[in-house]
Amino acid sequence: MASVSSRVSPAHLSDARASLRACRLCPRACGTDRTISKNGAFCRLDVRATVYRELLSLGEEPAISPTWLVDLGGCSLRCLFCSEWQHVVQPEAAPAQVLDQTWFLPRLQQRRRQGARTLSFVGGDPTPSLVAVLEVLATVPDADWLPVVWNCNGWLSDTARALLAPVVDTWLVDVKFGNPQCAQRLAGVDGALDALEVTRTLEFARSRGLRLRHLALPGHLDCCTRPVLERLARDYPEVPLNVMPHYLPLGPARTHRLPHAPELQRLLSAAEQVSLVSWQAQWTHAK
Ligand code: SF4
Repeated sequence: MASVSSRVSPAHLSDARASLRACRLCPRACGTDRTISKNGAFCRLDVRATVYRELLSLGEEPAISPTWLVDLGGCSLRCLFCSEWQHVVQPEAAPAQVLDQTWFLPRLQQRRRQGARTLSFVGGDPTPSLVAVLEVLATVPDADWLPVVWNCNGWLSDTARALLAPVVDTWLVDVKFGNPQCAQRLAGVDGALDALEVTRTLEFARSRGLRLRHLALPGHLDCCTRPVLERLARDYPEVPLNVMPHYLPLGPARTHRLPHAPELQRLLSAAEQVSLVSWQAQWTHAK
């Protein structure tokens, strides 16, 4: 596919395609040749990306709304509270649509006419799908380009960050955990690696349109939310942060027994909500 956009050069696309031959786009570093198959890929993706939902959203942060949200299947994490679980573990399950030029360009035009100011890739997590995203962005004429929001979990390798840098205008990173033990228990990741790689992404993105999110989890205000807010206020005082207080038990937290994480199966308590409001005010004041 030829490159039309000045943001994605032919050499850039060539590098991106080559990265899939021994995939290390995220810290899982599977080493899988995704040009042959998805076998061995933790994200369960080959070269294709799948879209399981798209909509014009008015409900994101004002700086990026209205945005055309494109939800991509697959993820590098397995959070027990994931609201998109079925699309994470089965990225090709119906009604998934392969992300390609034929699907993408008419909808881009439609969403632009409807008032989209930005284009947000989300998931699951969009990073495992970044090569397919670059393929379709390469076909967008400059006159039709929308600023790109990469709504991600921070799990990117140096290669992924470099491939995305020319096309991403806003890095919207969800900082989930305040310590390695909770990352390990709730998302099935090496907690130390999680802390290291998310920090690398924050450092990379802070001069490139970084915005932050944090979802407050029941039973995790002292171990996760408070340290996350304190750290972000201290180390990233200039970066906008959206603390999300409306946790619902979804994904495995709704459908499975979780004897090792029963706290995820309830809402935030009234006391937790009070603490959260207080900490948000404190953080905002600190900014
Ligand atoms: S994107 Fe990450 S999880 Fe998927 S194959 Fe590559 S290294 Fe593995």
